[in-house]
Amino acid sequence: MTFQAPKGVSEYAPPRSAAFRRAIDTFAAAVTKAGYGYLELPVFEDTQLYARGVGESTDVVTKEMYTFEDRGGRSVTLRPEFTAGVLRSVLENGLHHGQLPAKVWAVGPAFRYERPQAGRYRQFYQVDLEAIGSDDPLVDAETIAIAWDWYRQLGLQRLTLLLNTLGCAECRPIYRAALQDFLRALDLDEATRARVEINPLRVLDDKRPEVKAQLEGAPLVTDHLCAACKAHHDQVRTALADLSIPWTDNPRLVRGLDYYTRTTFEFDHPLLGAQSAVGGGGRYDGLSESIGGPPLPGIGFGLGLDRTVLAMEAEQVAAAAVSTVDVYAVPLGEEARRRAFALLAELRRAGLAADMAYGSRGLKGSMKAASKSGARFALIIGERDLEAGAVQLKDLETAEQTEVSLASIVDTLKGKLL
Ligand code: AMP
Repeated sequence: MTFQAPKGVSEYAPPRSAAFRRAIDTFAAAVTKAGYGYLELPVFEDTQLYARGVGESTDVVTKEMYTFEDRGGRSVTLRPEFTAGVLRSVLENGLHHGQLPAKVWAVGPAFRYERPQAGRYRQFYQVDLEAIGSDDPLVDAETIAIAWDWYRQLGLQRLTLLLNTLGCAECRPIYRAALQDFLRALDLDEATRARVEINPLRVLDDKRPEVKAQLEGAPLVTDHLCAACKAHHDQVRTALADLSIPWTDNPRLVRGLDYYTRTTFEFDHPLLGAQSAVGGGGRYDGLSESIGGPPLPGIGFGLGLDRTVLAMEAEQVAAAAVSTVDVYAVPLGEEARRRAFALLAELRRAGLAADMAYGSRGLKGSMKAASKSGARFALIIGERDLEAGAVQLKDLETAEQTEVSLASIVDTLKGKLL
């Protein structure tokens, strides 16, 4: 009997996993430099956290969650997203009593029971970043800039940043009512009508052509902003312009939860087909209270690693992430194997990436392995050379071969490679 991975999960094996790993490492380095601390979170939480923290009317909560009862009779859910769990952890660990904003990041799998297709999986991966406890628009711009620079660092050139604001507790209800008036007059199916009453902003996001066509003249949130929200939005945009980050204003971009406020953004990639959103985020000034915390503004994002890797592949920058060894040892004979093995450890301790031909493959097979490994140098260790205290160093790019003394080989390679 053989086994396959469960339906709809994404997994990464070499060489493809190199781009995935590089995406995470690059992110970790960048956010650490910007003062974000690492959070390692549980993959499952109390189901109620998501019911409240994602919103009972969302598709995620109504039909996509992996929810089950554990052996103790508790209802738990595999995280469908990070923000609710991050905020729960920030509150539980009292990070909001320290310096604000509390800046944290996390990475790992998320789970949604969706129909699997290209770029849409049941287990997928995100990097997540949140800044909690400040309503400064510059913090909004910082999070967007971090995401933007990360994509750029990975070599992605063709991303679009879509930007919107959703207003606040003051101006949003007025907009919501105006939107509902408009939507109630349309020809919509029953489920969509119900959505108009519970969560009208999400109807704006409906991708079906027959609904989209009717939404042409819908009132826009940007025409209903209060002075404070308008000023906030203007400051975010000025800051992005100062950083030369291009964006497209999209007044129909929503995150349909009631406590999502003000700045909302999404990164889209043109080569990914239907699942073009590679990441998204926004401000959620009401979320803390909705999960039982104190009033605490926050902003953050979740960036999809799977689609980021797909975008890297589409732009042909993924291969650059595959790293190879510097040196590949080719021992000939039993004594040479022992010496090569010890030398390998020495090279690695010196900071070089090194590997060797294991097993007894003979010169030809071992040299083939050396060239397949992508190493710049092959280190040929023969019994006779060993007796003379020497090894043969072959540059696999130029095919040039030189004899180097065993005593100085580590330094020689360091000089050439570091
Ligand atoms: P969301 O929380 O739905 O805004 O998701 C944030 C990002 O996670 C999206 O922009 C996608 O890149 C990624 N994502 C969400 N759901 C999936 C999924 N089922 N499979 C792969 N990536 C996903």
